[in-house]
Amino acid sequence: MIHYQLRCAHGHDFEGWFRDSAGFESQARSGLLRCPSCGSSTVDRGLMAPAVRTARTAAPTPAAPGQAMEIPDTLRAGLQRLRAAIERDCENMGDRFADEAIRMHRGETEERGIYGNASERDREALADAGVAVASIPWLKPADG
Ligand SMILES: [Zn+2]
Repeated sequence: MIHYQLRCAHGHDFEGWFRDSAGFESQARSGLLRCPSCGSSTVDRGLMAPAVRTARTAAPTPAAPGQAMEIPDTLRAGLQRLRAAIERDCENMGDRFADEAIRMHRGETEERGIYGNASERDREALADAGVAVASIPWLKPADG
C-alpha cells in the first residue's frame, strides 16, 4: 500500500491509500477519485508522506508544484532529527539509490534501510517497478 497526500483543483488537501502508484493513476484517470470537500475529480498528488515515522510530527502540507515549501521551525527541528537518524541508521547509496531500491524490491539484494538521490527519471523507474519511496526535505543540521 502507498499513501498519498492529495490536493484537488480548489486547494483542498486530503489523503488516499492505493495499492501502488498505478492504482492511483487509474483511479484518477477514470474520475473515481473525488475531493471529499467539494467533489472535484481534478486531483493531484502532493508530496509523499515520509515513510519514517517520527513521534507527534504532523505531516507537512504539500506545496503546490513550483512553489517553495515554507517549513515551520517546529517541523524544521523534526526534519533535522530525521536526517540525523537516517544518516545514522541507513546506508547512503548516492545516485545509485533507485537501482538499489529496485533490486531490493525484487529480492536481489539484502533488505535494509537506504537513502540517496533520485532524479525525475529515477522516480519514474521506481514507480514503474512498484517501489514506494518517501521524499523528505533534506535540511542542513541546525549548526550547519
Ligand atoms: Zn476540493
